[in-house]
Amino acid sequence: MSPKKDATYIGVLALQGNFRMHEYAVERLGATPIEVKLPSDLDIVQGLIIPGGESTTMSILLATSELIEPMSKLIEDGLPVFGTCAGMILLASNLSDGRSDQISLGAIDISVQRNAFGRQPNSFECDLSVAKIGLHPFRGVFIRAPLVYSVGRDVEVLSRLSDERGASPVLCKQDNILVGSFHPELTGDDRIHKLFLSMVYSQ
Ligand code: GLN
Repeated sequence: MSPKKDATYIGVLALQGNFRMHEYAVERLGATPIEVKLPSDLDIVQGLIIPGGESTTMSILLATSELIEPMSKLIEDGLPVFGTCAGMILLASNLSDGRSDQISLGAIDISVQRNAFGRQPNSFECDLSVAKIGLHPFRGVFIRAPLVYSVGRDVEVLSRLSDERGASPVLCKQDNILVGSFHPELTGDDRIHKLFLSMVYSQ
């Protein structure tokens, strides 16, 4: 596919999980989503979204689709990437309880624990404050969400969730990488996707 002048192409990893709703958010913001299933789908993307789903399954499919190497190279070269939930797990530098063969792209210096807020029936919603997107709270939808239990010095924590565990980071940024442990694509509120697109436009 040859890119159109003035269009912004955002890849959405479409191997498994909740990728469609991210595509709709990208479209609402005036950019063009590209479903990424093969290495050649990455050719014209200016940013990449890794959706929620099941990180162990996505990890296997990333390997069989031969996407790990080209994605890692693009990330290293500064491609803006936004990972939500399972996407956050895949991008983290340290995972405490993944499958032994689960890949970590090691793109952001955070340590995460999978399913730390409980299984599917323990899914919950709550208002989050994210100063970077304005005063109005953002509705956080948490589904088998990972817990970020430590962040490196160069990681900017954009939002935290306060509960009995303390104030755990739920939205983090380091250079070209943005990760959230919740599902902004399910809310119809596109402010976090807009924040990601601003990272793409400032490249
Ligand atoms: N618990 C899932 C995993 O380990 C992530 C859940 C989600 O993406 N909603 O991959």
